Amino acid sequence: MGDGRARLDVRYGAATDAGRLRTHNEDAHLASPPIFVVADGMGGHARGEDASRAVIDAFRPLASQTWATAEQVTAATQRAQLAVRRLRGGGSAQPGSTLAGVALCEQAGQPCWLVFNIGDSRTYRLRGGELEQVSVDHSQAQALIDEAGYSAARARRAAPRNVITRAIGGGLSATLTADEWLLIAATGDRLLICSDGLTTELTDHLIAATLLSAPDPTVASAALVEAAVSAGGRDNVTVIVIDAERVAGAAAVDTDDIDTLSLVPEVIDEVDTMPLAPEGPSPATAESDTRGAGARAGQGRTFT
Ligand code: MG
Repeated sequence: MGDGRARLDVRYGAATDAGRLRTHNEDAHLASPPIFVVADGMGGHARGEDASRAVIDAFRPLASQTWATAEQVTAATQRAQLAVRRLRGGGSAQPGSTLAGVALCEQAGQPCWLVFNIGDSRTYRLRGGELEQVSVDHSQAQALIDEAGYSAARARRAAPRNVITRAIGGGLSATLTADEWLLIAATGDRLLICSDGLTTELTDHLIAATLLSAPDPTVASAALVEAAVSAGGRDNVTVIVIDAERVAGAAAVDTDDIDTLSLVPEVIDEVDTMPLAPEGPSPATAESDTRGAGARAGQGRTFT
């Protein structure tokens, strides 16, 4: 795959915590270049843990190679869905999981971040001191923003916390493909992958400030998790921080040229800057993990 010229050297860190209210940590993560994944399991207790672990296990074969490919990510996503579907669901809740990840890819000799997502775990990019949310949630709140024109703050107040509209498993029989974004990597980029236990406790302003105050990715990961737990810790929280220490690639590849490769649905170099959440009280309302039920309730209308 590599031509010997492209290079993306990363430093990374990760941290996770069950939080203050949960006895189990149903989040799972994998940080092993060229693959980085966060999975937030649902379905209650051991079933949620089994689901998120199954997702992580599906991506393990991608570790320990120089580059991952979009095809490998697609295949791993399908393996994850088969594995979670095979898990026994006790009672009414079928086990399920989110999937948020970053794969280090090479496209036309250019090192890239391949960002992929199903659910409401998130990937952000910090570049030039500016934090941008790359992934788009599959959640009721995001549906209100997209379909009803709600502001982010209004959507958070209106939609029950943690209700997602797509998941790995969660009673779904259809095989989903993850949403994907391909970003050309630049030296100094910092990527953040996190479960919603971070983003429901901390505003984007605070996340950005914490990332900017901790140059070491391990320290930054721990600081973010600690801040989320201190802010309430109502959910499991998991964070991976990836820094591009050195990027070398084919000279001056235009994003329009890469677009013609059509290896992923969308190739973008600049993500629209998302409006940062206004400072204010946390919008969290429901404390129970309602996402499994919400995912089922949402199917047929929002699953596309
Ligand atoms: Mg969660």
